[in-house]
Amino acid sequence: MVTLKDLGTPVLNTWCPGCGNFGILTALKNALLELGLSQEEIVLVSGIGCHGKVPNYVNTNNLHGIHGRTLPAATGIALTNPDLTVICHSGDADCYDEGWEHFTATIRRNIDMTLIVHNNMVLALTVGQATSTSQEGFRSRSTPYGVIVPPLNPIAHALVSGGTFVARGFAGDPKHLQRLIVEAVMHRGFSYIDVFQPCITFNYLNTYQWFKERVYKLEEAGHDPTDKWKALEKSFEWDDKIPIGLFYKEDRPTYRDNLPHIKGKPLTELALDKVDISPLLKDYM
Ligand code: SF4
Repeated sequence: MVTLKDLGTPVLNTWCPGCGNFGILTALKNALLELGLSQEEIVLVSGIGCHGKVPNYVNTNNLHGIHGRTLPAATGIALTNPDLTVICHSGDADCYDEGWEHFTATIRRNIDMTLIVHNNMVLALTVGQATSTSQEGFRSRSTPYGVIVPPLNPIAHALVSGGTFVARGFAGDPKHLQRLIVEAVMHRGFSYIDVFQPCITFNYLNTYQWFKERVYKLEEAGHDPTDKWKALEKSFEWDDKIPIGLFYKEDRPTYRDNLPHIKGKPLTELALDKVDISPLLKDYM
């Protein structure tokens, strides 16, 4: 039986005290305990950004990848060994800027894994530039006169791209986020959770207080997560009232279900003795 202590690591945590990443880390660890998974069954994959340190702080199988490529690396792991529970951590710049094409492709493919985006609406690790979810008017090192274009709407994008589990959480409510992560991991297919993660150092606009005054829970408002059109309508709510919770969920075959050569047996169990790679190597000799 895995305990909270087992999931800890000796690595010194270098996040700023009060950072929203702490709420996500707490929710993640408690969700893993609730799911009852062994440490060997879990793989955490992250990209570049403050979020990217999550694997340093959780004692499981981990891969800290390169900027924007969190999802391709995780896809390889998930397709090769479906017995593993793959959870990706990405940031708004990592996923919605550098990784946008991969985000779209992974949603369409319905790869069976979970994505948690630490959306702080700013490039924090590189000390405060705007990202594609920064709000209009947001002043940063790269936008000293304020952002002049509207932010992306990743929830709406995930819905219209064929997302089968689309949700939003808030780092200031780790209990609620824990529930979402548990549901996401249990969902068969690609589960996506955008998380409002206040960056107390570089985002002066979207603070804990700012979110607390606005967020409300879809499940408490009677939202039906099987109604895609309603989910899309909800994804455009912003300004005074902003929904968190499960927007939409559906069952659809995963990418692996439609790949006949690995559908029955994972690659990790295929015999290598009949594989001859010498023709491939000829080009390099
Ligand atoms: Fe968190 Fe922002 Fe500090 Fe990074 S810079 S650790 S996102 S508060």
